[in-house]
Amino acid sequence: MRTKLAAGNWKMNGLTQALSELSGMEEAAKGASEVLICPPFTLVGAAANAAKGIAIGGQDCHAESSGAHTGDVSAAMLKDCGATHVIVGHSERRTDHDERDEDVRAKCAAAWNAGLVVVLCVGESLDEREASNTLDIIGGQLAKSVPDGATGHNLVIAYEPIWAIGTGKVPTTDQIGEVHDFMRARLEKRFGEGVGRSVRLLYGGSVKPSNAAEIFAVSNVDGALVGGASLKAADFVPIIDALN
Ligand code: 13P
Repeated sequence: MRTKLAAGNWKMNGLTQALSELSGMEEAAKGASEVLICPPFTLVGAAANAAKGIAIGGQDCHAESSGAHTGDVSAAMLKDCGATHVIVGHSERRTDHDERDEDVRAKCAAAWNAGLVVVLCVGESLDEREASNTLDIIGGQLAKSVPDGATGHNLVIAYEPIWAIGTGKVPTTDQIGEVHDFMRARLEKRFGEGVGRSVRLLYGGSVKPSNAAEIFAVSNVDGALVGGASLKAADFVPIIDALN
């Protein structure tokens, strides 16, 4: 059985005061599902100290463990300040920082070396979906950005269609199911049935309290990676409850 995961990605949002939202999530986090919040780097240490029953993760890490990379943060540094997880390959990183599958793969391997659980993002653009290339794109991203050595303990995949992020547009449940079933099959083929079946698959993109239950009922959806609706406990708690 895969433990469901409600993950929040705060992106570049949140000053110290935002940490008070974590306490509002604690009660819901006592349910059967795991809860993960990925605040900006500046809050990771404080969040890890403050959070009870909520895992804390970074939103990115460098592929190297240390060195002359001004402004970057390594996986070991995240781990050192209390993170247990890290997101890699988010489409906003792929777009804003020109990250390629090879970069994402190297970051994932670095995170594993540091002992972090990776939430690795994949997803197609609207043009790619309209050209009926979605499964090819997702298959390519999985093949190229996931290193060998994946297990159900060190890897979570988040399917985030780029056109659904922050737009209020959500794929149909059939469209989500098609991609998630495809990802499951690809993981089983590459890593074997045991590992392939144990990696959790999250959906991300405009998940809200109003649509969470419907999305969580889709086959092979093991939770969500939530942006905007994870910033406030009032929005995120109903999403966690829908998963529990
Ligand atoms: P929204 O939930 O704001 O659409 O963001 C999704 C996302 O990118 C999470 O990583």
